[in-house]
Amino acid sequence: MAASDDSFCGIYCGACSVRRFGETGRADGFVSCLGGVPADEIACSGCRSASPYAGCRACTLRDCATAKGLSYCVDCAEYPCPSYVSWQKAGALLPHVREARVSLETIHRDGLDAWLAAQRARWACPSCGSPLSWYARECGSCGHAAGARTYTMSGLRKLASRLVLPWAFRRGKARAAARAAASGGRAIFCFCRALRP
Ligand code: SF4
Ligand code: SF4
Ligand SMILES: [Zn+2]
Repeated sequence: MAASDDSFCGIYCGACSVRRFGETGRADGFVSCLGGVPADEIACSGCRSASPYAGCRACTLRDCATAKGLSYCVDCAEYPCPSYVSWQKAGALLPHVREARVSLETIHRDGLDAWLAAQRARWACPSCGSPLSWYARECGSCGHAAGARTYTMSGLRKLASRLVLPWAFRRGKARAAARAAASGGRAIFCFCRALRP
């Protein structure tokens, strides 16, 4: 799979906090909740790359869509299946997850190119145009306030994320390793999927 800003589930990987940290070394509110995750593990080239962030490598949505030969869950006859709906519940904690469903349906309606253009504009600093990450409070390039363009990581969301995100990473690593051992190397798990009860 080639590097890309889109994903099977609808998350816009171009604004991913993990990916932006790997490219710039600047942590946003999401990355600041990844206590215990080694810094050199906080990097990704996107959902369609050969080696996504360990927490996303064994995503069951990604695994399922790939096995069905689909580019997006929205192209599936079962969409939104119980797995997708369950994963969307993580949107109560992490709004970038909630946004994924709207994104999939926009891709289905308007096409990938139009959606990508809109996402790049939506996640660009209004002052200098540099890409913002989901939970950045200001632009890492010029310092301009992100305002309502990005999500905040505060209060209960922050408390819960500090518990859930490192746990989800560890769970993703363990599942990926178990799948790799079982399959001889092809292991996929999603750190977002790990948020399910
Ligand atoms: S960590 Fe997950 S959401 Fe972020 S860029 Fe990689 S695959 Fe996409
Ligand atoms: S069954 Fe669910 S997870 Fe699998 S491709 Fe369809 S919508 Fe996605
Ligand atoms: Zn800027």
